[in-house]
Amino acid sequence: MPQWNSTLLRAGSFRLDGGSMFGVVPRAVWSRLVSPDEDNCIPLQTNCLLLEMGGSRVLIETGNGSKWSDKERTIFGMQDRTIETALGEVGVSTDQIDLVILTHLHFDHAGGLTRLAPGGELVSTFPSAEIIVQQREWDDAMANRSTMSATYLRSHLDPIASQVRCIGGETTIIEGIEAIPTPGHTWGHQSILIDDVNGPTCFTGDLLPTLNHAGRSWSMGYDMLPHETLLTKQRMLSQAVENGWRLILDHEPGDAVVTVESDQRKNWFSLVPEQAG
Ligand SMILES: [Zn+2]
Repeated sequence: MPQWNSTLLRAGSFRLDGGSMFGVVPRAVWSRLVSPDEDNCIPLQTNCLLLEMGGSRVLIETGNGSKWSDKERTIFGMQDRTIETALGEVGVSTDQIDLVILTHLHFDHAGGLTRLAPGGELVSTFPSAEIIVQQREWDDAMANRSTMSATYLRSHLDPIASQVRCIGGETTIIEGIEAIPTPGHTWGHQSILIDDVNGPTCFTGDLLPTLNHAGRSWSMGYDMLPHETLLTKQRMLSQAVENGWRLILDHEPGDAVVTVESDQRKNWFSLVPEQAG
């Protein structure tokens, strides 16, 4: 059976408050692993995944996009780089993408769905693509159900609404690509399991944003359901060990492709970077 070829794309670095990124973990503990800057922020990346098979092209996540003011760019330390830049570097144009899959619709994942046209109007970045998201996530985004007031932004969503196909629960999106509900960060958050030429690969979204989020309690203050995140993470990590899944970490600025090992001593798991470059 044919399998997907995947390419990790870096859609641009940014930064978020370290305290918010590590939730209940004290600064005295997390700051030993990652050094915060003068504003207490830590460096992050917006990792996306391009999947190609035959003539089909699928993109997972779209990063922050380009519609940000200078002030917002400064606050979030946003690099002047987008998913369009990253696709261009591998010779793919945005109208060659057939399918865009999103783990959820927060701005650092869905922002790249739209762009400002030269005339100033908001348009779809991927005009030929069907856009896949869980129905629950779409409904929550439309209703702005979040503890964050400015993360489900209609400027990222309204212009592409007619391209969206909502799915419900565990679903085969297309041959070799499965959606797995992974609630916690949001109610409708999903991870994407790919039949990849390098072995089964799971894009885990904000369930496991960086290498430093593997630990039981190392989840984000941004999570809608922190305890659900813990349970979902445990399930995901044990499935990854059992089935030999590679995981792609969506906000890891360093080695973003990992495998998972059981850590008997801690009765938990550890992530092992693949160092593919
Ligand atoms: Zn995120």
